[in-house]
Amino acid sequence: MGAVRIEGKPIAQTIKEQVKQQVENLQQKGVFPCLAVVLVGENAASKVYVGGKEKDCAECGIRSIIHRLPESTTEQQLLQLLAELAEDETVHGILVQLPLPQHINPQTVIEAIPPEKDVDGFTPENVGKMLIEQDCFLPCTPAGCIEMMERTGVEIAGKHTVVLGRSNIVGKPVAMLLLEKHATVTICHSKTVDLAEQCRKADILVSAIGKAEFVTKEMVKPDAVVIDVGINRNEQGKLCGDVASDVEEIAGYLTPVPGGVGLMTRAMLMKNTLLAAQRQMKS
Ligand code: NDP
Repeated sequence: MGAVRIEGKPIAQTIKEQVKQQVENLQQKGVFPCLAVVLVGENAASKVYVGGKEKDCAECGIRSIIHRLPESTTEQQLLQLLAELAEDETVHGILVQLPLPQHINPQTVIEAIPPEKDVDGFTPENVGKMLIEQDCFLPCTPAGCIEMMERTGVEIAGKHTVVLGRSNIVGKPVAMLLLEKHATVTICHSKTVDLAEQCRKADILVSAIGKAEFVTKEMVKPDAVVIDVGINRNEQGKLCGDVASDVEEIAGYLTPVPGGVGLMTRAMLMKNTLLAAQRQMKS
């Protein structure tokens, strides 16, 4: 019969419309939500992502300021800019597009963003609060995965969930959020023994390893929910996820690439920027 596709577009659109309404409410109170995005260098994919963020902000009525800095920017110059943005009361959210050039330490840069403006949810304070389930900014991609399932009516509590990948920006946080939603969670990575066997036990399989078409139908339990976070190019140069197309024959639900988790990530950034403006208004 084939898996039901969980399309990101309509869900992301609904979220963005909700954000837009709340942005208008804030504007009537004299608060104009604003996101500052910093892009260093010439990474082609990063340029596309930043363009997408600019467009989403415009759709939601959020002001965006894009700082496009040359590859030669020093860490000190970047930290100086972040200090200015941290001080600027008209800027509610700050996002530094990753990856940064080799000569800049990403962790130092992330830690220069004040937690209350950290709309990516990458600072140690937000990561720590997420872990102990306190109010914080949740990282956009993991939060987008959860939101996508919840808005589709996928039951998470009690389900055996396997996460492929343990990066700080996707694998680890998505595993923590699934745990918070009462799933039983297994995290797999490059040293996992018999990965396929682990995957076959999953009611919900989240793949974030960055390997084109790695997950095949032999690795998927019939009727499983498969969330494909990967954004890769296959041998023909075509954009694809971590999940091979034959998985559609066996999964119950499947997210497409493009048009799945990526759109949710973008929508969650808008939600976080709105939240940042609301919280800064109250304080
Ligand atoms: P990283 O490269 O930081 O992490 C990849 C993880 O996958 C690592 O934990 C690594 O294991 C694991 N891994 C790699 N190869 C294998 C393998 N053969 N078997 C098992 N585990 C493996 O990637 P990110 O987390 O940053 O991104 C993952 C993917 O998600 C990429 O395609 C990226 O483009 C995409 N992405 C998509 C987003 C979206 O909005 N849709 C947002 C962010 C990322 P180990 O730790 O052992 O090395």
